Amino acid sequence: RGLVKHFPIRSGLLRRTTGAVRAVDGVSFDVGAGETLGLVGESGSGKSTLARAVLRLTDVTDGSVLLEGEEVTTLHGGALRSVRARMQMVFQDPLASLNPRMTIGAVLREALDVNDVGAAAGRPARVRELLELVGLDPALLNRYPHQLSGGQRQRVGIARALAPEPRFVVCDEAIAALDVSIQAQIVNLLAQLRDDLGLSYLFISHDLSMVRHLADRVAVLYLGQVVELGPAEELCERPGHPYTAALLSAVPSPDPELEASRARLVLRGDVPSPADPPPGCRFHTRCPFATDRCRVEEPALRELDGSARLVACHHADAERPWQRLDAPRPE
Ligand code: SF4
Ligand code: MG
Repeated sequence: RGLVKHFPIRSGLLRRTTGAVRAVDGVSFDVGAGETLGLVGESGSGKSTLARAVLRLTDVTDGSVLLEGEEVTTLHGGALRSVRARMQMVFQDPLASLNPRMTIGAVLREALDVNDVGAAAGRPARVRELLELVGLDPALLNRYPHQLSGGQRQRVGIARALAPEPRFVVCDEAIAALDVSIQAQIVNLLAQLRDDLGLSYLFISHDLSMVRHLADRVAVLYLGQVVELGPAEELCERPGHPYTAALLSAVPSPDPELEASRARLVLRGDVPSPADPPPGCRFHTRCPFATDRCRVEEPALRELDGSARLVACHHADAERPWQRLDAPRPE
């Protein structure tokens, strides 16, 4: 709820605070039980900072995170540890996130010990169960991370996240480092685990086409703010925000008719600095549809034609020009 994470910028000999990097700047969303919320945006949009703030791996500047109704942002010590067991993270790079000197079995055993899961005597059996749960042969127990393939390592990363029996799992670019052929296997595994265990996911990716397959709803992040939020299929078929359309343009559609009809929206330049976001609509410096109003007035995140969709754009009316190449620009 209204989540804000600013990093102060200090300069000069006295290290005075002279500004702030507004990495996450007022973000609200819900993730329902058993639901997957996709979170997309270019690098620098604040996705990872948001993930860390939600999981309390970093303190938040403002706002609130509720896990099954319990306020998480103000917890410390033992109370924070017990709530952390219920929300876990799967990281991007399984090799970097696994200790190279620990066997797979030791990694999982540690995850059970740290979170005090079940009786100690039952933990060796639970380690084997976790490996089976993620589709790995328990015989791999004594291997080290470097002796596994990238896909196998990510399965270990998932097993470790599941060890404390979480309710909510954040996957931060969990498939980005994998070969394309392996990505689909891991996405399918995540979907199956979600359905079998009733997990909720926040699935973070820069790749909207991958998110679309797994997510029920999608939130699009730009410069630390949600610019569009809605059901995955609708949002991908009829983007309400030009930035969503631009992210979709970066992905070729397998449907030739859709491919031919869809606007190609190529973004100019990079994401502006979150230390100095543009006034008005933060996207106006890169938006081909920007008008004078966009340069001064910040668009609120509002419902789009009575649908379940939220869009932050002054021109997100029924005739959205970014869906067609030949359509006129708004005045
Ligand atoms: Fe583009 Fe204006 Fe909409 Fe922002 S408010 S996305 S600048 S059309
Ligand atoms: Mg990131």
